[in-house]
Amino acid sequence: MLCFDVDGETTALSEDPALVSRVTTMSQCEYGPNIGVPRLLGLLDHLQVPATFFVPSYIAEHHPRMMEAICTRGHEIGAHGHLHEKLAHVSPDEERAILEKSVGILERITGKRPIGYRAPWFEINPGTPDLLHEFGFLYNASMMADDVPFTHPNGLIEIPGQWLLEDWEQFAFNAEPAWGFIPENCSKVFDLWWREFEAMHDFGCCFVLTLHPWLSGRPSRVRLLEELLVKAHERGHVWFARGNEIAAYVRDHPEARRELNFDTP
Ligand SMILES: [Zn+2]
Repeated sequence: MLCFDVDGETTALSEDPALVSRVTTMSQCEYGPNIGVPRLLGLLDHLQVPATFFVPSYIAEHHPRMMEAICTRGHEIGAHGHLHEKLAHVSPDEERAILEKSVGILERITGKRPIGYRAPWFEINPGTPDLLHEFGFLYNASMMADDVPFTHPNGLIEIPGQWLLEDWEQFAFNAEPAWGFIPENCSKVFDLWWREFEAMHDFGCCFVLTLHPWLSGRPSRVRLLEELLVKAHERGHVWFARGNEIAAYVRDHPEARRELNFDTP
């Protein structure tokens, strides 16, 4: 599952609204929706690979042409907060209000109610799965408890991720405010992700790669993604799927669910 978290300007604005006057910092964030997404859509067209775009509703409102370009290609739009709010820092009532607002905006813009959710910074609260279920979501893609999808007690499906398969840790950098680390060499990152892909393939796992267009839309990183997708395709026995397809498969095939088993290695 290929996920693009299109955080754009909310990367800065969720940290501090005053950053709106930091023109260069904001311009780096805008690079994602304006330049990164179109370039990545071109790659997905070229390779015929479907993807899920988790978009804060503030970004959806401010980049209508980007939204149209994603939707007309059949990719999935998932919810990702309004202004990329950190859920650990909001009350249950605020969390509900943010979800209601963001779902409403995405539905108005795309004509479809989102059924997939990715929490900003991957972090959910104890009540989040029940809230998502109440709002009609089919799946959440925020937890890290397994490496195949699983089902919450309320029926919500979870498509788990992991920090290893995230580009922020590899590529994010801003001088001030200080974000990220020294940007990594793409060869190192390819090796990191490919080794995990191969091992997950052997173990029959769900490889969930999470990329931010302001980082992974830069030219050498688009090439890195192309190499990874081509090599994964050549490896064979791989299903490239959007989150909504994976969640529907898990829902319709309860026999495919993994039970915890400590007896068999
Ligand atoms: Zn995000």
